[in-house]
Amino acid sequence: MSFPVATIDAAALRSNLAVVRRMAPRSRVIAVVKANGYGHGMIRVARALADADGLGVARLADAVALREAGVTQRILLLEGVFGVEQFALAAKEQCEIVVHSPEQLDALEQFAGSHRFIVWLKLNSGMNRLGFRVEDFAAAHARLQRCSSVSQIRVMTHLSSSEERGHVTATQLKVFDDLVAPLGLERSVANSAAVIGWPEAHQDWVRPGLMLYGMSPMPNQTAAEFGLRPAMTLSTQLIGVQNVGVGEPVGYNGIWRAQRPSRIGIAAIGYGDGFPRGTRNGAPVLVGGKEATIAGRVSMDMISIDITDLPQAKAGDEVVVWGEGLPAERLAPYADTTCYELVCRVTSRVPLLWKGA
Ligand SMILES: *Cc1c(COP(=O)(O)O)cnc(C)c1O
Repeated sequence: MSFPVATIDAAALRSNLAVVRRMAPRSRVIAVVKANGYGHGMIRVARALADADGLGVARLADAVALREAGVTQRILLLEGVFGVEQFALAAKEQCEIVVHSPEQLDALEQFAGSHRFIVWLKLNSGMNRLGFRVEDFAAAHARLQRCSSVSQIRVMTHLSSSEERGHVTATQLKVFDDLVAPLGLERSVANSAAVIGWPEAHQDWVRPGLMLYGMSPMPNQTAAEFGLRPAMTLSTQLIGVQNVGVGEPVGYNGIWRAQRPSRIGIAAIGYGDGFPRGTRNGAPVLVGGKEATIAGRVSMDMISIDITDLPQAKAGDEVVVWGEGLPAERLAPYADTTCYELVCRVTSRVPLLWKGA
């Protein structure tokens, strides 16, 4: 078997979907599979989550790939489409589209095909990324109502800080509900953190991504506390061991030095695989199931690990850098990033090995 490898657990994906359903029992679920299923492999993720009520992707090309693979589920284009040709392709692929800008409204009004779209009108409720501002929303809604290419209108917004129980989200929810509740349309607000922490945001449709992959969006609560199981385990092997004396440096630029006679395990994974080069010394990894720490600069194809306290550790041992037994959330702060980015940037040379499919 080659290494490193990202083992993807289809049973964990399904079980995490069940957690979403338990937490948001009255909502339908759009499983977000953008960015290649958060690095897990979009098409197989979509198949594993065939019980979701729909799939959410950022780009039209993803929808095309899903349809080519035979996926017939509802697909929602979370950023909508751009220009008349893309509207035609979205129609052909039977996609539902977000409309967040006047340019998209113009294009939809010019769309001459026979397809009638389910359109998710997006409100900018305070994040100031995509969506119509409050003062422009009613006019946009009226234009959609008049548009002959629209079969149904739903409304959505996105939260900027839902992992906190603070006033930012409370304000966004109030802005959204005050404006759209009177319309009586189906609504969607919640990403993973809002599924977990903001029941009032569940509404008709939830849009979880991260939690389906078994990671926690909450700063102080682990995925396990919510019954979530990591779907990706990124692992490799020790390919060598060095004994180094006190004061000796390890790796490029010698950013780690032995404070005691030390054993350094060299594992075959590096930034060429998506393991962040900026990861600091002291970051946790599992060697043969036991925790050890990164010692020295991450190289393109290798990392070095202080295994002094694991006398049994030897070349050939399995090394887990995140996943089962070591959540990606633990590594992320040592690399000044989030688990979202860690899983997304696993590179294409790392094979995805599915189990439980
Ligand atoms: C990515 C995304 C989601 C999912 O967010 P998570 O934090 O991964 O659950 C939901 N809605 C929109 C609009 C998104 O772009």
